[in-house]
Amino acid sequence: MSTLQTRGVIHVTDNCKACDHCTFICPTGAISGRLGQKHHIDQDICVNCGQCLINCPFGAIEDTSMVAKVKEALADPEKFVVVQEAPAIRVALGEEFGLAPGTNVKNKMYAALRQLGFDKVYDTEFAADLTIMEEGTELIHRVYNALGAEGFEHAGPLPQFTSCCPAWVKYAEDKYPHVLPHISSAKSPQQMFGAVAKTYAAEQLNIDPANMVVVSVMPCTAKKYECNRPEFVASGYKDVDLVLTTRELAQLIKEKNIDFLNLPDEKADKFIGLSTGAATIFGATGGVMEAALRTAYEILSEETLDKVEFEAVRGIEPVREATVEIPVKALGKKLPVNVCVVSGLKYVDDVIEDVLAGRSKYHFIEVMNCPGGCINGGGQPIRRDTY
Ligand code: SF4
Ligand code: SF4
Ligand code: SF4
Repeated sequence: MSTLQTRGVIHVTDNCKACDHCTFICPTGAISGRLGQKHHIDQDICVNCGQCLINCPFGAIEDTSMVAKVKEALADPEKFVVVQEAPAIRVALGEEFGLAPGTNVKNKMYAALRQLGFDKVYDTEFAADLTIMEEGTELIHRVYNALGAEGFEHAGPLPQFTSCCPAWVKYAEDKYPHVLPHISSAKSPQQMFGAVAKTYAAEQLNIDPANMVVVSVMPCTAKKYECNRPEFVASGYKDVDLVLTTRELAQLIKEKNIDFLNLPDEKADKFIGLSTGAATIFGATGGVMEAALRTAYEILSEETLDKVEFEAVRGIEPVREATVEIPVKALGKKLPVNVCVVSGLKYVDDVIEDVLAGRSKYHFIEVMNCPGGCINGGGQPIRRDTY
């Protein structure tokens, strides 16, 4: 039995001024407290999204830090420390160094990570491609099952929900356990990266996985919770050992007095193979859906897409829907696939209740906790000048 514990990673400090703002922000109702009294988070229903943290006007909410453990690993000559960073980091990290929001600093970030002492600096993008292929293929199997095709009886039911947002997955587990068979069985890109790093990559690099430490840099506080879930140890080792947020990476760079803005541009190390770039859109709401649809389209139509965008699933509204016509070569006809994108858990209850009541018209549903997706995750830079 695993000795790992999955604990909540967000807590209210004694700096709480009891303004009550966080209770309006929290998507799950996990925060309670009267005006004038220090507020409290119910860890049983908190999904660790950190939205309260980045929106508390007094900076009174904190996430559990793994910074000390990352420093320890980097200082240990016995450890081979690899790092992966999600695409949403590269356009947010620069804000911590005074650059305009949206400035892409990925090449300086790679240089900074090497100066911090990481042995290999990888992107999460290859693993995001794996997630997309898994989710796209699983969706096809569920469609075949729904059409009564032989050999697909064990595929899950439609609609299929995405599984890459750990806050959404915990929300479903806590509040809607009957919807779990609808959630994709694919691991998130963070966890897929860790699993491949501790197995295939460790073998290729001739590193004992017991001595490998996998660190993620994520825009997300819920990823700290996700990496400690006890099921993510299939290789015999934790897929991902430690998670830093965008803010914490900036803290490490500043502590080491690295002149970030004047760093040379560097490239990431190659992680097994090329990535498609599709994963770059994972960070924005609708991105996972769009990438998985591309995969499903190409497999079912047996055609390579010239125009690779499904613009109908883009946008900023919290709930968006579209119908995508996918030509299925094996059937000799087009199948209309109804998709829905939900950005913000506050908007997902009606969608789930329709699914559980058997009246949902959708085949594929993306759910991301944070408004606008991971680019606005709880681990991103905090703009207090907006208050
Ligand atoms: S927003 Fe911050 S200061 Fe206000 S009640 Fe919540 S934790 Fe306390
Ligand atoms: S982390 Fe998210 S779910 Fe937990 S209390 Fe804060 S806003 Fe609510
Ligand atoms: S939307 Fe992205 S940043 Fe927000 S909780 Fe989910 S995975 Fe984390």
